[in-house]
Amino acid sequence: MEFSSRARQKHVRLAGDRRELYPHSLQFYLEPPTESISLVEFESFAVDRLKLLKVVENLGVSYARSTDSYKTKLESELRKLKFPYRALAEGDYEARRKDHISHFILRLAYCQSEDLRRWFLQQEMDLFRYRFSQLSDGLMQKFLEYANLAFEAISEDLKNELSNDLCASTPGLVLSKVKEQMFYKVGLADAVDLFRTRKVFIKDGFAYVPFKDIDAIVLNNYRTRLSKALALTARSLPSIQSDERLRPLLSHLSHSYVGPDYSIQKNTGKISLEQIDALSVKSFPLCMRQLHRALRDSHHLRHGGRMQYGLFLKGIGMTLEQALEFWKKEFVRGKVDADKFDKGYAYNIRHNYGKEGKRTDYTPYSCMKIIMSNPPSQGDYHGCPFRHSDPELLKQKLQSCKIPPSGITQILELVKGMHYQLACQKYFELTHEVDDIGFSLNHPNQYFIESQRLLNGARELKKELSNSGNSQQKYNSQENMSSNLTPTSSNTATDTELEGLEAYFTED
Ligand code: SF4
Repeated sequence: MEFSSRARQKHVRLAGDRRELYPHSLQFYLEPPTESISLVEFESFAVDRLKLLKVVENLGVSYARSTDSYKTKLESELRKLKFPYRALAEGDYEARRKDHISHFILRLAYCQSEDLRRWFLQQEMDLFRYRFSQLSDGLMQKFLEYANLAFEAISEDLKNELSNDLCASTPGLVLSKVKEQMFYKVGLADAVDLFRTRKVFIKDGFAYVPFKDIDAIVLNNYRTRLSKALALTARSLPSIQSDERLRPLLSHLSHSYVGPDYSIQKNTGKISLEQIDALSVKSFPLCMRQLHRALRDSHHLRHGGRMQYGLFLKGIGMTLEQALEFWKKEFVRGKVDADKFDKGYAYNIRHNYGKEGKRTDYTPYSCMKIIMSNPPSQGDYHGCPFRHSDPELLKQKLQSCKIPPSGITQILELVKGMHYQLACQKYFELTHEVDDIGFSLNHPNQYFIESQRLLNGARELKKELSNSGNSQQKYNSQENMSSNLTPTSSNTATDTELEGLEAYFTED
């Protein structure tokens, strides 16, 4: 009894603390958390936030941010991952705590380079924008006070005096609306975005912002604070990284993607070396297609390329014996003789398969790892072409893959916005002639498996339909499916070559 009563008291106290700590479901993340948490919780919070930010990134590209589809999908993800999902939700203190702690963990992981900071800032801004837009007017006002953004509302007399100017300078407002609307006097530095887009009345160094536009000010303020905070966090990184428990976790998170690691190869040994050329065109992502082409052309790849491509091939099912044969055949066509290959390169390959050195069974690289680490230099072919090729070169590569000009423009736009994985998803859609990829791409081996599922699904359907008689209706659906799913580069010989793989890639 004593034990449970104390536990209850403790619980009540904790709940009370959280109510004080997190008065709003929306946060500005001004103070870092000070409580102790376990490493398990540390990692699970961080991984969940990373999943959430990736959804935010995907939705931001697929939908306009003001649409119902965007909002509904984001709310459902917040709910699924147990983050605060509705501004008015009461008693979601655990979710608020998770929101707070996970934000600060990712700050640590994502302050390490300019690229990482930019990505993190963009997704956090989008998340904040959505959450702020869900607040009622009353909650918005409360939030502004909590965030020390309690701008001065101008008096009715001053508003009447300025009403014509306010109406003329504020797009979307008629005179009658000016009278209903509250206006805030805001320093110019806080209203830069509105000022730059000429959406606000300016007088004597102040912007007069209607309540409906206050979100732009809040967002601008949030961006400035978060961007400064990331720079400051980066400065304190060396001391944080000296903690041996945190260093690997943080590095893993910043290169992380959250899905299977493709280390369990149920398909091992089911691919023949003769299939690789055809597969590289039909089902390899551009990074691997480029490595394969370079290997065939120059009969050599440098270390970064051998690692990235070798582990990918291992992940799609190439056995150690096949890998040794595959690399040797290609290398001896170039400047490496068989003896040199056996003495030098074969060791690396066995190492990748966990047969040498520490005997680690290495896993294929994820997109994040490829995009974020070890950029290629001159003469290298590894890396992610969407991240590491200059736009003109990327355009040429896409042209040589027969991507139509409109598709190339879409891909280059995504690359410009630094959405490299989304650019790759678009490449998948265009090369497989589907409208919506239907999954979130995080890994080259995932790309391969999804491609095979799609192509083999189409082929299975084709077989089924041709075996099932002359139903006109069925022929029609076959045509539809074929035209949707079969890549332009397919041919019968290749189809036959790849048929053996069906069973392995159509399984879950
Ligand atoms: Fe390869 Fe991933 Fe880049 Fe696509 S996004 S090319 S799969 S690294």
